[in-house]
Amino acid sequence: MCGIVGALSSHEVAPLLVEALKRLEYRGYDSAGIATINGGILDRRRAVGKLANLSDLLVHDPLPGKSGIGHTRWATHGAAKVGNAHPHRAGSVAVVHNGIVENFRDLREELIAADIQPRTDTDTETVVLMTEYLRTQGLGVVDATRAAVARLEGAFALCFLFEGEDDLLIAARRGSPLVIGHGDGETFVGSDAIALASLTDRITYLEEGDTAILTRTSVEIRDAQDTPIKRPARRVRLDLALPDKQGHKHFMAKEIAEQPMVLAEALKGYAMGNGLSFHERGLNFTDVDRMVMTACGTAYLSCLTAKYWFERLARLPVEVDIASEFRYREPPVAPDTLAVFVSQSGETADTLAALKYVRKQARRIVAVVNQTESSIARESDIVLPIQAGTEIGVASTKAFTNMLIVLAAMAVQAGLDKNAFDKTVAAERLTALHTLPGLINRVFVGETAYARIGRKLAEANDILFLGRGAMFPIALEGALKLKEISYIHAEGYAAG
Ligand code: GLU
Repeated sequence: MCGIVGALSSHEVAPLLVEALKRLEYRGYDSAGIATINGGILDRRRAVGKLANLSDLLVHDPLPGKSGIGHTRWATHGAAKVGNAHPHRAGSVAVVHNGIVENFRDLREELIAADIQPRTDTDTETVVLMTEYLRTQGLGVVDATRAAVARLEGAFALCFLFEGEDDLLIAARRGSPLVIGHGDGETFVGSDAIALASLTDRITYLEEGDTAILTRTSVEIRDAQDTPIKRPARRVRLDLALPDKQGHKHFMAKEIAEQPMVLAEALKGYAMGNGLSFHERGLNFTDVDRMVMTACGTAYLSCLTAKYWFERLARLPVEVDIASEFRYREPPVAPDTLAVFVSQSGETADTLAALKYVRKQARRIVAVVNQTESSIARESDIVLPIQAGTEIGVASTKAFTNMLIVLAAMAVQAGLDKNAFDKTVAAERLTALHTLPGLINRVFVGETAYARIGRKLAEANDILFLGRGAMFPIALEGALKLKEISYIHAEGYAAG
């Protein structure tokens, strides 16, 4: 998942855009770029790899201007190379895009038939080409953009910038989240409020299907039916500090080391002494007869692990689905079902789509998330923060363990509510959970030995992770982590 930013400022925007993109680094990306308007002229800079590469480029080849858009890309269509990086441009139109334009092939054929040749491998380019094409057919900027967006299928967030228009941004949200930030005579756009933390704390969340026409002094929003609509601006509390490696070699090492601390902190939020706080948060399992848990990647594996706990400890049947499978399968969800969605960012597109599907069936929805200002959190009935702090490493570590601790505490609550065990047993289980931070610290003691083993394992072509019971999903997660980090083929396998 990538990041989008936009700014109509009273200052030079290039540094503001890069700073805002830094705050979105936690989402992962393979390339980045910005575009600005200066003296009416549209120009852009793009670089593959770290944001630092884009910053370096800007030092040698600055991009002046007080209006601009920026993007960190995680390629879905077309390789991670400069030519495919955003912002994309066609004539006077530039766009940054998060998500996928599913009908881009049809649009592309239509454009080619009109003698317009795509120059990149991306789905995104069709958006600017179509907008520019409609402009040349006589439509004004706003109407052309609206008409182009109306032609798109898929899940996306878009932010447009136009040559000759120094005081105009157009933003559109369908599926992927997007927020507007309000400054003093300045207006901003971001994938989330965190991106804009150093610019403003006054945020308007766009709703599904919204289009926003922005100037420095006005915000005009239209809903999916194209009806003008007022959306409230809220003050959000955000951490201003930019993430720092704190002496560790990389963020993943830092985040692994943080596990005992953040785990203890999260546990405190749910289980103080022998008391659990789920009832105060509105979560009671007494009338819950089954659970469906939906997530992607590592979060999915946390659900798969928790399934063993809920079923064994609380005798509560649990179904676990990968969000993309769930959303396209469209399964029935019985009325007494509790639907749990787990996501570090709270913005995972498939998980959000699955949540919206369940929402239509009016089932109770619990979000287990790290980012409490996220779309998944905002669309849920009950939010259970995992309190892992910002996770920058793309391979999740501390967020995974904190998902597990929250789900484990939840399973103890479920067991109590379903009378699967009494208070004494619950107290024993909670005491066991409280010993975890200490135990993890003890694991760290072996670090030099692990480095030695790591060097041996690095020679392997294939590695199998074996596990039984709740350790089976942990084996799957181990294999996933090794693959992500080393590109060594690995598989998790049920030990039986
Ligand atoms: N589908 C677009 C691309 O591949 C956007 C991907 C993203 O969300 O970063 O360029």
